[in-house]
Amino acid sequence: MPLIPPHSTIGILGGGQLGRMLALAAAELGYKVHIFAPEADSPAADVAADFTCAPYEDIAALERFAAAVDVATYEFENIPTATVRHLAAMIPVFPDADALEITQDRLREKDFVSAAGARTTAYAAVDSAADAVAAAERLGLPLVLKTRRFGYDGKGQRIVRDNSEIAPAVTALGDVNLIAEAFVAFEREVSVVIARGQDGAMAAYPLVENRHEHHILAETIAPAEASPRLAACADQVARAVAGKLRYVGVLAVEMFVLGEEVLVNELAPRVHNSGHWTIDACAVSQFENHIRAICGLPLGSPAPHSRAVMQNLLGDDIGRYAEFLAEPNARFHDYGKREARAGRKMGHVTRLYPLS
Ligand code: AMP
Repeated sequence: MPLIPPHSTIGILGGGQLGRMLALAAAELGYKVHIFAPEADSPAADVAADFTCAPYEDIAALERFAAAVDVATYEFENIPTATVRHLAAMIPVFPDADALEITQDRLREKDFVSAAGARTTAYAAVDSAADAVAAAERLGLPLVLKTRRFGYDGKGQRIVRDNSEIAPAVTALGDVNLIAEAFVAFEREVSVVIARGQDGAMAAYPLVENRHEHHILAETIAPAEASPRLAACADQVARAVAGKLRYVGVLAVEMFVLGEEVLVNELAPRVHNSGHWTIDACAVSQFENHIRAICGLPLGSPAPHSRAVMQNLLGDDIGRYAEFLAEPNARFHDYGKREARAGRKMGHVTRLYPLS
């Protein structure tokens, strides 16, 4: 259990806004941050002490990075596991490569979540159109077909409502390494962001509701309106999964609500967009708790001091900064990205309200 004291250097794989907010939280605790990312335009690098711009497969660059940092983490789940394993042979890396490997593969992830005692929708492995037809017979229609790896924001998935749509959908998704899921007629989408320390202590933020538009998170309502039973059920699911993974760092558990029950949809082995509100509305944010966890420090309180609604600012929304800054209860965050492409996450606004 390495203790990485303040003034040490934290290496972060990935240079996006999550890395940027991690670096800002790390700086508040007295750490320096070194970003490793392949993209020259990395918003995290603008607020970090050091930046290695190299592909994740560049072994020489990784070795120099390892020599320059005291601990490493990642802000992006599609980092090659070989990169994380290579680093972990030289320095502590949290979350570990096993957590990354499981959460990179929707099938392994669902098997793991089920083994942890949590519910998911019914699912099946699919490696051909015939498998998908068999899955449709067993799970019913509509059926959601997804690639096992590298999907995000609704990419790499198709909903099939009719048998005739199955074969074209399987072909469009690349024929193999797919998962079929029973379609969930959920009431709402929610998530729990949880931090787990090197010593196994856990700090879970309250359940939040996530509203998506065009498959991209639009708004997080925190805390979610939920019965104590539902909130406790979601909290227990997150604790069970984080505990079974022996996870260190912040983990996000995305779930569907069906009545008083939750079904786990997806895990993210990193700080998460549905936890951005914690910067402005909680005693200690998800970003700071991730830094505390990986450095072996005590976790901070996840208790909210305000209610919050976090709105993502996509593309040109970011140009409305003067409007957001004029709102007395809003906090505006700009990720400093140079190009405001349509749908790109450019910043967010968190509006604060008294806790009722
Ligand atoms: P994912 O990439 O798995 O997070 O899926 C993206 C979005 O698609 C989710 O946020 C849901 O809105 C929807 N979705 C994913 N899986 C299912 C499912 N099995 N049933 C219904 N909707 C789903």
